[in-house]
Amino acid sequence: MKPIYLDNNATTSVAPEVSAEMLPYVNEFYGNPSSMHTFGGQLHRKIEEARERVAALIGAEPEEMIFTSCGTESDNTAVMSAVETYPHKRHIITTKVEHPAVLNFAKYFARKGFRVTFVPVDNLGRLDMDLFYRALDEDTAVVSIMYANNETGVIFPIQEIGQILRERKVLFHTDAVQAVGKVPVSMKELPVDMLSLSGHKLHAPKGVGALYLRKGTRFSPYIIGGHQERGRRAGTENVPSIVALGKACELAKTGLDNEVRYVGGLRNRLEAALLRCCPDARVNGDTEHRLPNTSNISFEYVEGEAILLRLDEYGICASSGSACTSGSLEPSHVLRAMGVPFTAVHGSIRFSLSRYNEESDVDKVIEVLPPIIKELRSLSPYGRDKLAACAPDRESGTE
Ligand code: PLP
Repeated sequence: MKPIYLDNNATTSVAPEVSAEMLPYVNEFYGNPSSMHTFGGQLHRKIEEARERVAALIGAEPEEMIFTSCGTESDNTAVMSAVETYPHKRHIITTKVEHPAVLNFAKYFARKGFRVTFVPVDNLGRLDMDLFYRALDEDTAVVSIMYANNETGVIFPIQEIGQILRERKVLFHTDAVQAVGKVPVSMKELPVDMLSLSGHKLHAPKGVGALYLRKGTRFSPYIIGGHQERGRRAGTENVPSIVALGKACELAKTGLDNEVRYVGGLRNRLEAALLRCCPDARVNGDTEHRLPNTSNISFEYVEGEAILLRLDEYGICASSGSACTSGSLEPSHVLRAMGVPFTAVHGSIRFSLSRYNEESDVDKVIEVLPPIIKELRSLSPYGRDKLAACAPDRESGTE
């Protein structure tokens, strides 16, 4: 059964054009780009072509792009580089809702004796800008704030934050792993020094990413060894995946405007129908500033895991919280930071769409999910009581 895949913030399918372009570099052109012979050395040109394509998607210069193994490595590299290049500064600012790639790295520095400020968010997942301004001081080595949240899709005011940081001469890194390829991102306009992106979130394979490093920004490599990436990231280049990332970025750039409209339309239809058909459902996050592909909905008084299992029976893939934390039954740190009530955190489902979704995918969810919610609530004693309390409303045609 072909899945109805609505979990694109966890990972995306590899675009057919991308796999077609990368496969020769798996099967035929397996040389090492650092080799003197033509067979290997010719790959150098292909890597530079990919670099140009990645740079073009975000309005950067090719030499500002460093290929890495994933978004996590890009995030870790950015923060570590800042700390290494400003060794006298011992303060890091980030947010309470970062992906673990930044959040846990910041906690690691806290354990090492750094002062770390985790800026809170309000109940719509919006950053507490007052607290952010107040946290900034002469000792701040780096601010790392995500562009868009992986669980709710909420987009942070990166432009505004960057302007302040530029005036204060503080390094600014943004984890744009969920934003690049989904919304326009231009380094010509954004006052950002470092930016992370990841291949598998934009229809390239897993295990490849990139770090944007603005020209003139001090840098210290995280992975030390050979001279690859002009000495900025050692390790023999993952040529097929780099080629794939380049192609995926080229595709994303060409189709972005249409995709934003198309995917946003599908997401809005799905969300509106589910809110209409399911009582006690609410959207988590600021719907005014949000990725077009993401909808995080809490179905109160139901367990998110139970919903996922039932959807799975229909081949529908979604997620509760981020893919990294599902598997443990820990409630999402993002929703908790937003103060989402306990009963709603546990029943939260994230739908994340892509250009490969069709209307029929959304229709299927709209058809099967409301009865699933109703049934699960009738099985849960708490849900049954709650439903009994609001039964008259439901009878009056909300379902
Ligand atoms: N940052 C964000 C916001 C993410 O959503 C993810 C992956 O889910 C990452 C970083 C990590 O990227 P990767 O899986 O490429 O290491």
